[in-house]
Amino acid sequence: MKHLALALAVLSACMQACAPGNERSERTRLMIAQTKLASDPHSWSRPNEARVTRLHWDASVDMKAHTIRAVATYGVVNVNGANEIVFDTRDLNIEEVRVNGEIQPFTLGDARPFIGAPLRIAIPADSCEVAVRYATSPDAAALLWVDGDKPFLFSQSQAILARTWLPCQDSPGVRIPYTARVQVPAGLLALMSAENPRDKSPDGVYTFRMDQPVPSYLMALAVGDVAFREIGPRTGVYAVPDLADVAAAEFSDLEAMVAAAEQLYGPYAWGRYDLLVLPAAFPFGGMENPRLTFATPTILAGDKSLVSLVAHELAHSWSGNLVTNSTWNDFWLNEGFTVYFEMRIMEAVYGKDQSEMLALLARQDLDATLLELPGDDTHLKLDLNGRDPDDGMTDIAYNKGYFFLRMVEEKVGRQRFDTFLKAYFTEHAFQVMDTEQFLTYLRARLLTEAEYTALRVDEWVYAPGLPDNAPLVGSQRMQRVDFLATGWLQQHNNTEIPWSTWSYQERYRFLSLISSASAADLATLDKSFAITATTNSEVLFKWLELSILAHYGPAYARAEEFLCEVGRRKFVLPLYEAMVNSGQLEMAKRIYSRARPGYHAVTALSVDELLTEAEQ
Ligand SMILES: [Zn+2]
Repeated sequence: MKHLALALAVLSACMQACAPGNERSERTRLMIAQTKLASDPHSWSRPNEARVTRLHWDASVDMKAHTIRAVATYGVVNVNGANEIVFDTRDLNIEEVRVNGEIQPFTLGDARPFIGAPLRIAIPADSCEVAVRYATSPDAAALLWVDGDKPFLFSQSQAILARTWLPCQDSPGVRIPYTARVQVPAGLLALMSAENPRDKSPDGVYTFRMDQPVPSYLMALAVGDVAFREIGPRTGVYAVPDLADVAAAEFSDLEAMVAAAEQLYGPYAWGRYDLLVLPAAFPFGGMENPRLTFATPTILAGDKSLVSLVAHELAHSWSGNLVTNSTWNDFWLNEGFTVYFEMRIMEAVYGKDQSEMLALLARQDLDATLLELPGDDTHLKLDLNGRDPDDGMTDIAYNKGYFFLRMVEEKVGRQRFDTFLKAYFTEHAFQVMDTEQFLTYLRARLLTEAEYTALRVDEWVYAPGLPDNAPLVGSQRMQRVDFLATGWLQQHNNTEIPWSTWSYQERYRFLSLISSASAADLATLDKSFAITATTNSEVLFKWLELSILAHYGPAYARAEEFLCEVGRRKFVLPLYEAMVNSGQLEMAKRIYSRARPGYHAVTALSVDELLTEAEQ
């Protein structure tokens, strides 16, 4: 197993010896820098010609002016005698460039929508150091600034937004270790996807180091008045002081989750695993920033019912962060594997009953997405050339990817599949993977040619829709819900619904099945079960969607409050869609005008598009 030994050697060299100037780590970096990368339609950089190998980021954060002023100093390897290095930038104000300490002229090309502008800097024939002094725009798309007496800042770099706060070679194949020094107002804590402080420093200066090489989409920064609570020996949670104890209780199984994940697919490679609970404006459920997952507070349900999101982000420590999609066309390699892994962690920690209910909801979401998307967008392997990679972040990558892997597992047996996956993560640690490379590996290491053909692998990956050999999810509890929902739609007999004993998954499923209910029907449900007042954000979301579609007025105040507080796109966008589809565009516009200033660009742009189309 020579291949394996080599990969492990690279990994341990990176983890143990990445101090700047260390000879061994320089060799490792050079090795990484010389790996040939696929061309990426979403980056100007040409890393096969000249590539960054390390970064020191020295930044000062102005919470009032909503800007960051910084110097990004990169080690650069000139791979093939190129005369320039190219960085991705978007809306950055580049002030000065130095190469090996000397001021150098630079050119900033024309900006393209969502791709931004190339920053070209002349370099010598050998390795050099390139320092870029710059300031971000107050409108930087990655950054969300929350004002008030307790200001907060957080970044969301995936997919190609890192370039709005850091000039970088913004392609998932380019991985580098980094260090940073960040100055923030005294009284606030700064955190990054790196080794993090636990306590505030009196002068507001923090230093960071991330020894393992990471791609730019995993660069992350958060600044706010947050406190730390330890959960286990290598796990903890950061949250605003009011929420810190609540969050620590909600995530008390974190250490057990890390242990379960390691049991499945090998050692956790990143040292600590901490969570940061962000303001509700965070546009996603979670973001797998290494060592510090960013999470929405909407998973704080009070009863651990929504912790599968944490299992998902933790799973990314292997799928995505360790073995990374080569370009955004291979996004399913990050997300499909992660959903599969998430379900396995949930099964190990909470039992098969729970994970099967989650799988059934995944299938439900996937079926809805398949009806909505054009065929080409339902391939696992995408072609996003000329499009925003955000267009590929759909249930296809996540849930079609999951069902593909589950189908293979069911065919070859769990033991064989687990051995295969563990080797896959170990042998490709800190490397990129594209779809074709994965399929080659699958044929070489798991499936015979006959099996590959019989499982219709190419059809799953390169053809639209869901092949009819997709695995069936079995959940007796969900079957019971389906049965009761059918009966309820005929009789409207609330006494038959065991709402108080149902899990969130059962409640969510029930609400998904009664979309034909009238406002009067919803009123009786609400009277029996007080659903408008639920504290589970998933159940609330589904209920508000139903209420809007049925014009059930008593839930409208809660809907407006929810939309003005929560910026998670998965909830926000369908609720505005429901308003548009039920002839309530004016209400959508009124609420949106109030809520939009609090949304991150990722969410705001999606809603902008929806409402602009609705007006036409
Ligand atoms: Zn994910």
